[in-house]
Amino acid sequence: MYLFTHRKDLRITDLRAFDYIIRNHKDPGLHLLILDPALTTKERLTAHSGRSFLTHAAQLIAQYADAGQTLHLLYGQPADITAALLGAYPAIDEVIVHADYTPYARQRDEQLQQATRHAGRKWLPLADAPLADLEEFHTFARRSEPYKVFTPFHRMWSTYMQQHYAPAGRTTVRDLHTVGSLDSGVAARFALPPAIAAALAEGAERAAAGAAPEAQGELSRFVRERLSAYGERRDDYAAAGTSGLARFLNAGAISAREAYESAQGSYGADTWIRQLAWRDFYLYQAMFHENFFRYEHLVDQSPLSDRHFEAWATAQTGVPIIDAAMTQLLQTGELPNRLRMVTAMFLTKNLLCPFTLGEQHFRLHLSDYDNTLNRGGWLWSSSLGYDAAPYFRIMNPVTQSQTHNPSGDYIRRWLPELAHQSDRDIHLPEPHAIVDVKASRARAIEVYKTILA
Ligand SMILES: Cc1cc2nc3c(=O)[nH]c(=O)nc-3n(C[C@H](O)[C@H](O)[C@H](O)COP(=O)(O)OP(=O)(O)OC[C@H]3O[C@@H](n4cnc5c(N)ncnc54)[C@H](O)[C@@H]3O)c2cc1C
Repeated sequence: MYLFTHRKDLRITDLRAFDYIIRNHKDPGLHLLILDPALTTKERLTAHSGRSFLTHAAQLIAQYADAGQTLHLLYGQPADITAALLGAYPAIDEVIVHADYTPYARQRDEQLQQATRHAGRKWLPLADAPLADLEEFHTFARRSEPYKVFTPFHRMWSTYMQQHYAPAGRTTVRDLHTVGSLDSGVAARFALPPAIAAALAEGAERAAAGAAPEAQGELSRFVRERLSAYGERRDDYAAAGTSGLARFLNAGAISAREAYESAQGSYGADTWIRQLAWRDFYLYQAMFHENFFRYEHLVDQSPLSDRHFEAWATAQTGVPIIDAAMTQLLQTGELPNRLRMVTAMFLTKNLLCPFTLGEQHFRLHLSDYDNTLNRGGWLWSSSLGYDAAPYFRIMNPVTQSQTHNPSGDYIRRWLPELAHQSDRDIHLPEPHAIVDVKASRARAIEVYKTILA
């Protein structure tokens, strides 16, 4: 018997663990989803990312039920739950999960591994989230040091993908044999508290109401309707020219392999697949560079301050494209990539705020929040990290707005109070803008030159 716990893999097709289980276990298994107190705080559950997680969790429960299988839901510390299950089920010989490399996940999995080994069972973390098997890729690349820069990484990654890509698996949960009932002592000890059960029920209602469109349907629609123009339209943020798949990929509602295979061979696929390679690049950094998640401790950020943070976060800077973008984020949890870069550069450079404040704000508000990709984006935008925007190349929010949405319609949509402005004037900072864009840019270059010296 085995124990499998879902984490960032909230789907029932193409899981590396399912392929492993079908090959190695004729016996039944317990399939589990743990609502971890650390990840289900009230603040998180009411944020866009938490709501998105619960909607995907509710969909997963429904998918198991449709397939005639059982997913058990428990609330508590993952290591305590695992230890209790291993105690209640002497027949479990293996604990299977998909590997995760964020600081929290590493610590959690260390405890899980200890609990599993302590009980004399086998601990098996399998690679699933990245498109390439990054451990294998690292060996294939024969590097003495892990890659720090995207371009050479991408070159080698493309070769690896051509030669060693392991396609999506065919096993679904329907092919497995899940255990239907759970030991009553464990079920009672780790039952969902009423507030969490209620939040999950709301997630189920959102899913039933179509708030979370079905991941596979979204993927096929993107490939059919928008992929061919992706290269030209990805920065046209008013028109939503990108796939919008990040929230599904990050919750694991679709696998990166399913996304890649659907796009492969279509016109425009290369540009889009390059973005999937950026995703792998940041996952690779999280795996191989121990400083990726502690970069802020390596540089002296004392010349920076939180003085303007509130104005930025609450869309009160007086720079229209920044305030429009921050309004979209607050109201919807969405923010196109170009505007993530523009607002992040504005916060860290023109407003001289530490990147960690913006990173935390995105954590609470992005519905596709992902710890690793968010950190990668903030390190890039603030010119810190290994492969980052040069500190002297600071995006000007006004020219970015004029270039990527000349009509200013995006600003009109999110800041209706500016709707009367002409197409020419709408991009310009308002008289009460909290900084002068040019002067603050010049100051930022001086400050970052010192920080990075
Ligand atoms: C400051 C900042 C913060 C960010 N925070 C997050 C985050 O929390 N979660 C998140 O998923 N992405 C984050 N990104 C990366 C990127 O903005 C989003 O992945 C993208 O906007 C998602 O939209 P999409 O699914 O339509 O992407 P598409 O353009 O359709 O791209 C397809 C997929 O490729 C990957 N991808 C695309 N762009 C990037 C990128 N620049 N870096 C890494 N992977 C990429 C994503 O998985 C994405 O879903 C951040 C970028 C910046 C600059």
